[in-house]
Amino acid sequence: MVQKLRKNFAYCLGIESTADDFSVGIVSADGKILSNVISAYIPEEGGIHPREAARHHAQVAGEVLERAFQKAGITPKDIAVVAFSQGPGLGPCLRTGATAARALASYLNVPLVGVNHCVAHIEIGKLTEQAKDPVTLYVSGGNTIVAAFEAKRYCVFGETLDIAIGNCLDVFAREAGFKQKEGKPFGAIIEQLATQGKELIPLPYVVKGMDLSFSGLLTAVIQLLHKGKYRLEDLCYSLQEVAFSMLTEVTERALAHTEKPEILLTGGVAANKRLQTMLDSIANEHDAKFSVVPKEFALDNGAMIAWAGMLAFQHGITTSVEESFVRLKWRLEEVHIPWIKEA
Ligand code: AMP
Ligand code: MG
Repeated sequence: MVQKLRKNFAYCLGIESTADDFSVGIVSADGKILSNVISAYIPEEGGIHPREAARHHAQVAGEVLERAFQKAGITPKDIAVVAFSQGPGLGPCLRTGATAARALASYLNVPLVGVNHCVAHIEIGKLTEQAKDPVTLYVSGGNTIVAAFEAKRYCVFGETLDIAIGNCLDVFAREAGFKQKEGKPFGAIIEQLATQGKELIPLPYVVKGMDLSFSGLLTAVIQLLHKGKYRLEDLCYSLQEVAFSMLTEVTERALAHTEKPEILLTGGVAANKRLQTMLDSIANEHDAKFSVVPKEFALDNGAMIAWAGMLAFQHGITTSVEESFVRLKWRLEEVHIPWIKEA
């Protein structure tokens, strides 16, 4: 059943808080993105500490919400439904977003929708790139997933067995002593150095069936870094070549198996030009379209939660407060997707 939206109140507000970003987006029923305000937590050193990130989210929540309304040019009473990222992600971070969402929905007296973060990444990419039925490669700090729609679900065709590709790049960058200047991500610093790489250093290439493993590769490249035998540019280049070839192999096999007509690349690592080139070439070989989700919507963002929440709400899905507990390990294929018609 398609729920009727109150006339002139047809907006969904989405709250994203799975990891280091707190973000609020507002979308209309027909998929116009009115605002997407992101506040990133950048640790002084080391990786993301979940409680520190959650503290950041709680501190900025009020201001980010206000800016999202200002940018959208609407008022809270125009909101018909509040969506939030219910999982997967870091417990303290998810709980902060869920608490804000529950409070807002109860104050506005509107329904709540718990959204799966990975579904949201795919749906916003389909919206912005007008992709219909892609094989999606979602590569970020916390996730590495190759997925496509099949049998009423987004099926995971391949994924990492240990760390995510973004995490692999970030840990290497920290070991190499890089500093994030002006918010430039570690992956982008590695990308820049890799362009000056000349020598391809042998590193472990680990694809098991359709799954990937990056931890052995990371250990090996860090060991070589500390030996000091190789140029940093060559290490960055080799790390990228090996890791991205692994991702490209699994994506190509998913494409060949599903015979889907397009590849969609998303997540923070999607910004990498070398990865884009590799995927573009396999898309060409399979006569498939290749699209990259624009950075603002490829990173963790509230607009994607709002849009996935809107799709669910329009198809009769709401989440009661009792069911709104966060799901740290919520898998993509567990989510029922009634808004896609089976081909
Ligand atoms: P997300 O988890 O989606 O917020 O994305 C953050 C991840 O994207 C981090 O691991 C970054 O290092 C990575 N990243 C950002 N820009 C690039 C780039 N140009 N190349 C590779 N990785 C990148
Ligand atoms: Mg992030």
